[in-house]
Amino acid sequence: MLRSTGDRVVIVGGGIAGALLAKTLQNHADVVLIDPKEYFEIPWANLRAKVDPAAVERTVIPHADYLTHAKVVTAFAVGIDDSVVLTSIGRAVAYDFLVVATGRTCNRPQKQSERLEMFHRDRERIDAAESVLIVGGGPIGVELAAEIVMKSPEKRVTLVHGGPRLLKVMGARASAKALEWLRSKHVTVLLDQTVDLAGTTPDTREFTTSASETVTADCHFVCTGRPVASGWLRESFLRDHLDEEGHLKVDDHLRVGGLKNVFAVGDITDVPEAKQGHLAQRQAMVVSRNLRLLVKGACRDEKLHRYKPCPRANITVTLGRRDALAELPFMTLIGHIPGAVKPRDLFITRTRRMMGLKSKPYGTMPRVM
Ligand SMILES: Cc1cc2nc3c(=O)[nH]c(=O)nc-3n(C[C@H](O)[C@H](O)[C@H](O)COP(=O)(O)OP(=O)(O)OC[C@H]3O[C@@H](n4cnc5c(N)ncnc54)[C@H](O)[C@@H]3O)c2cc1C
Repeated sequence: MLRSTGDRVVIVGGGIAGALLAKTLQNHADVVLIDPKEYFEIPWANLRAKVDPAAVERTVIPHADYLTHAKVVTAFAVGIDDSVVLTSIGRAVAYDFLVVATGRTCNRPQKQSERLEMFHRDRERIDAAESVLIVGGGPIGVELAAEIVMKSPEKRVTLVHGGPRLLKVMGARASAKALEWLRSKHVTVLLDQTVDLAGTTPDTREFTTSASETVTADCHFVCTGRPVASGWLRESFLRDHLDEEGHLKVDDHLRVGGLKNVFAVGDITDVPEAKQGHLAQRQAMVVSRNLRLLVKGACRDEKLHRYKPCPRANITVTLGRRDALAELPFMTLIGHIPGAVKPRDLFITRTRRMMGLKSKPYGTMPRVM
């Protein structure tokens, strides 16, 4: 049992939100980060990393590189009560303050080297393929299709999407522009169709859609939405604070169910705004400031910072290195101009800088338990 110290903050989930929170709080409290991976990664660089080896190593960052004063428990949280988190390695971690930041379910290897190998394998599969199938026409599927055709225009790319239009997180105009752009790059887009993936393996070459079309492809990528990672809370004392989709209901201070010492940040919350990494980071910073006040001692609610949701999502979809699609309040732009606004390196440098990392990772190892 890892006993409480009076100012113990346990953060469950080392994604964009949990990692930033742990980093900014580590010198102000006794911080423990629980994450099944030994690293955090920059999700919006994932798709570039599949085609560009130079991007990969800067986007998968060991927790050890930015957590010099926090403890890391490499495990899943599997249960919780009002003072202790139970982990998949049998270790119980006591908390004074708890932050749930488990985002969305995702199967990732434990080690950074294994994750880097996954990227290399994906790149080799794409490089070797003459044809690629992408299932799912949200931002992830569209960005991946664009990365592939912009790097290798000769490849035959098919994008199958279950809805009537691509990018339903954006307006109809943006969907139409994305469709036109992809078709101009000779991507075959099949709308209102799904692909039966049951029984497929990475070696499957022939796929059947719900409209009985046959798609042949040397490799395929599934880019459909992932559920919220709150299954481990379903039997816990927080279960009554989950909404139907599994999001944790939070108040203005991002506290759960009015509990004074339990917070949630990032994609796991029910904050009424788009689930975006930069917003998850904003939420993490609000909780970081509040926890710094709370661990110092008595702090009245009026002194705590409030989180203001950002109802208008400002989504930019990257289309390879030069182009992008951006939805602005009065217009929707596609091409080089919005492409010039989003940095070529997809905010990798900025995100690394936020985590206190320069071009080369540095730092001492945290205590891994
Ligand atoms: C391919 C892709 C592209 C994207 N592009 C953009 C973009 O351009 N701009 C943007 O703003 N946003 C983008 N997003 C969205 C953004 O990445 C998410 O909003 C953000 O990652 C949410 O952060 P999070 O920390 O809440 O959750 P996550 O990033 O999902 O992290 C959750 C963490 O919790 C851990 N975890 C899960 N279950 C448990 C458990 N039981 N115990 C312990 N740990 C657990 C996971 O291992 C993970 O480390 C993109 C997402 C993807 C996937």
